[in-house]
Amino acid sequence: MSKIAFFCIPAHGHTNPTLAVVKELVRRGNEVRYYSYDSLKEKIQATGAEYISCDSYDNQMNLTPQDGKRIGKDIVFSTEILVKTTLAMDDTIIDELSKWEPDCIVADSVAIWGKLAAYKLSVPFISSTTTFAFNRYSAKIMKQNITQLFTMLFSIPKANKLIKKLQVKGYPVKNVLSILQNDNDTNTIVYTSPEFQPCSDTFSDKYTFVGPSIRTLDYQVIKPQRRTIYISMGTVNNLMEDFYRKCIVALKDSDFDVIMSVGEFIDIEKLGDLPQNFTIAKSVNQIEVLQQVDAFLTHCGMNSVNEALYYKVPLVMFPQTTEQGGVAYRVNELGAGVYLQEDSPEKIKEAIQEVLDNHLYKQSAEEISKGFHRAGGYRLAADKIENLINKRQ
Ligand code: UDP
Repeated sequence: MSKIAFFCIPAHGHTNPTLAVVKELVRRGNEVRYYSYDSLKEKIQATGAEYISCDSYDNQMNLTPQDGKRIGKDIVFSTEILVKTTLAMDDTIIDELSKWEPDCIVADSVAIWGKLAAYKLSVPFISSTTTFAFNRYSAKIMKQNITQLFTMLFSIPKANKLIKKLQVKGYPVKNVLSILQNDNDTNTIVYTSPEFQPCSDTFSDKYTFVGPSIRTLDYQVIKPQRRTIYISMGTVNNLMEDFYRKCIVALKDSDFDVIMSVGEFIDIEKLGDLPQNFTIAKSVNQIEVLQQVDAFLTHCGMNSVNEALYYKVPLVMFPQTTEQGGVAYRVNELGAGVYLQEDSPEKIKEAIQEVLDNHLYKQSAEEISKGFHRAGGYRLAADKIENLINKRQ
């Protein structure tokens, strides 16, 4: 039996794929502590892991949704958060961890404080990546524009100044890029298949592409007779009232049913009269819904796309961020979806009709799904963690 600590950021998309892995590690008799945030507490506890709240280390930053959008884009801002969070946790969590003596720390690629704790305590470390793995080859599809690139390059010296605060506290970090980037020497779990990951052959064997780690249901889902469409813009940047209204206008008189998840901050009543063929909710059980539907209009969050393709659902893609753009690009390249070029009711209807009528999209989704099933999933991720621990013992 080993002791394993997980670290993640307060985001469902980054947490969900780790849950099946944690559940499996607990089932195999390991002791797992999961450092996360109260909005994810129940999900984490349901895996059998011990949940440890990091909320009090986050309060001082009071992130607004606007701030949230800057993480990952604005390197100085991101570094400031990472340095503040790491230093806020430094006394208690580092102290607690050094007494507990974990055999391994697994941290989400954005929860850099987990990686820094592993480095400080010299504990074996595994990075957990819920997006595509990133290197100079796969970066090409993320299409960073020249302004973003310049802003980033000019910000690095400022960010490096912030990093000095970590060095003073005994964290062995060279510079900002050395901690933000994963290199070919870092053991990394990537939650997609080698076929879906762009340029997967350019990554070292430290990278394991386990495929999507889909949470399981303990009941069978029956597919309805009428064709059904699912619409969701994910759980983060989903304040898109106008868009949801346009979807209602586009699909209210169609001959299929629509399930639409709008997120917790949309007032569903304000969306107007609910057409008979619509079911609208703040949140749905997406794993259940995906087994009932014929097409998915999605923002192309990595998890949503992985989950949909796992269940062979072709996509209509409406990406909102650069990262989602990269995912959409890959789906388009492999033929499993069409872009929604413009969010007018006419174009929404047209794109959905195209995906339903042309069976090639479904066929490509089925092909990708086969690769996902072959990849090994949460069991392979758990094997990788246990193997790393066993090698060190
Ligand atoms: N999700 C869900 N119910 C919903 C909407 C989303 O369970 O009504 C889940 C979905 O299954 C996925 C995650 O939330 O695992 C969304 O992650 P994704 O990476 O697609 O997008 P993000 O929310 O991070 O933008």
